[in-house]
Amino acid sequence: MSQEFDLVVIGGGPGGYVAAIRAAQLGLKAACVEKRGTLGGTCLNVGCIPSKALLTSSHHFEAAGHEFARHGVKLGGIELDLPAMMSHKDKVVADNTKGIEFLFKKNKVTYFVGSGHIAAPGQVDVSLNAGGDEKLSAKAILIATGSDVMRLPGIEIDEKKIVSSTGALALSKVPKSMAVIGAGVIGLELGSVWRRLGADVTVIEYLDRILPPFDGEVAKHAQRILAKQGMNFKLSRKVVAAKSGKSGVTLSTEAAAGGSPEDVQAECVLVAVGRKPYADALGLESAGVELTPKGFVKVDGHFQTNVPGIYAIGDVIGGAMLAHKAEDEGMAVAELLAGKPGHVNYDAIPSVVYTWPEIACVGRNEEELKAAGVAYKAGKFPFTANGRARAMGESEGFVKVLADARTDRVLGVHIIGPNAGDLIAEAVLAMEFSASAEDIARTCHAHPALGEALKEAALAADGRAIHI
Ligand SMILES: Cc1cc2nc3c(=O)[nH]c(=O)nc-3n(C[C@H](O)[C@H](O)[C@H](O)COP(=O)(O)OP(=O)(O)OC[C@H]3O[C@@H](n4cnc5c(N)ncnc54)[C@H](O)[C@@H]3O)c2cc1C
Repeated sequence: MSQEFDLVVIGGGPGGYVAAIRAAQLGLKAACVEKRGTLGGTCLNVGCIPSKALLTSSHHFEAAGHEFARHGVKLGGIELDLPAMMSHKDKVVADNTKGIEFLFKKNKVTYFVGSGHIAAPGQVDVSLNAGGDEKLSAKAILIATGSDVMRLPGIEIDEKKIVSSTGALALSKVPKSMAVIGAGVIGLELGSVWRRLGADVTVIEYLDRILPPFDGEVAKHAQRILAKQGMNFKLSRKVVAAKSGKSGVTLSTEAAAGGSPEDVQAECVLVAVGRKPYADALGLESAGVELTPKGFVKVDGHFQTNVPGIYAIGDVIGGAMLAHKAEDEGMAVAELLAGKPGHVNYDAIPSVVYTWPEIACVGRNEEELKAAGVAYKAGKFPFTANGRARAMGESEGFVKVLADARTDRVLGVHIIGPNAGDLIAEAVLAMEFSASAEDIARTCHAHPALGEALKEAALAADGRAIHI
């Protein structure tokens, strides 16, 4: 006998668990199948949350050693207690994942701990982690199986000397040196953690710039600041081989265009070249679910695959591989299944890099606007001219507002500076409401606050900033 549900979600990450909860809130009988043993997916277990715990802790360590004195706080004998830092991170993860279990109970979502497999449209077989099977019948099946670490051919990740982001979140000692392959968000965040804790970090990147999807000016500024903090960069270089030895790893690198070989030695190597969709052993082929050439599950504007009754959201469908994008899709698909008008505005999805200073953006960058031939104006305001940033002693960076030259509509906002990840929320809201730069400029901002830099950048877009 199979148990019957309106919705069976496969994958309990931020996409899947949000969809299950929202569906239950809307009166659907919902189940979620998750094989990891804990809920929250990549994000809560080995992604956003543990990385931000280590970023915060390592930032405190660095601030205590280098910045407190400037504020008149003298500390002696600062020591790193890595096991304590790791157990703080582990506790944060455990509290968060258990929190989702609580939310499932509260909302009456049935949780199956096991691997889900689509036996046929409308039918999910679960191989329970505790042994045995369950057969579930479902009016709708939602694939929310997320993504996995992308590997480089010929470079074997052993999670000891050559680690993925997962291994880099759990090193038992600070390596003397770390080579990070890939200057994307994850490479720069985890590279920052280990540099702050004492590793000599070298980032090797195939492209001639860091943070490819971010605004070029912001990325250049970020590289300058990170280099000043002690991070080394080797751009336009590719890693062609890795050899593990007793004392570490030798990476053979070449210029991106070929030639000019150079070895890079490191005690530990972090492979951070991106993530790929994960839909292994799910039965997609036999169910006839179509994939894109890159292996993402193909969906229409309503998250429906080519097979009626089978939907997909989150990292496994591609686009911005971010937790909040997966969550919003989870919310939207649940609402659509309940007959409501669920939708996601992909033009207003923020991206944040939690280095220090933080880097955040929403909307289009200057390169994209130029390539699209859009006439725009840019307003920029530096944090050196913001009273709160100066009081904090954190005045590196700037806010840039890009607005349509004719209509003044905000097309993109780019921030590098203290708390940029929180500041960007105002810009996202502005874009959600199709605000003009003038709307932001005319909004009263508390003083002294970092957010005043956004107001000033919006004023600057009209050539009338007050404080520069
Ligand atoms: C180091 C790191 C840092 C990150 N930091 C951020 C950040 O700061 N902000 C941000 O927005 N994003 C961040 N991300 C990305 C974010 O984690 C993902 O975008 C997000 O988790 C995607 O959510 P999802 O629900 O689509 O999939 P996932 O979170 O990957 O969840 C999918 C779940 O499905 C389960 N599953 C797979 N197959 C099956 C099956 N057959 N049966 C049962 N269960 C199955 C998996 O075990 C997994 O738990 C980070 C990622 C990493 C790796």
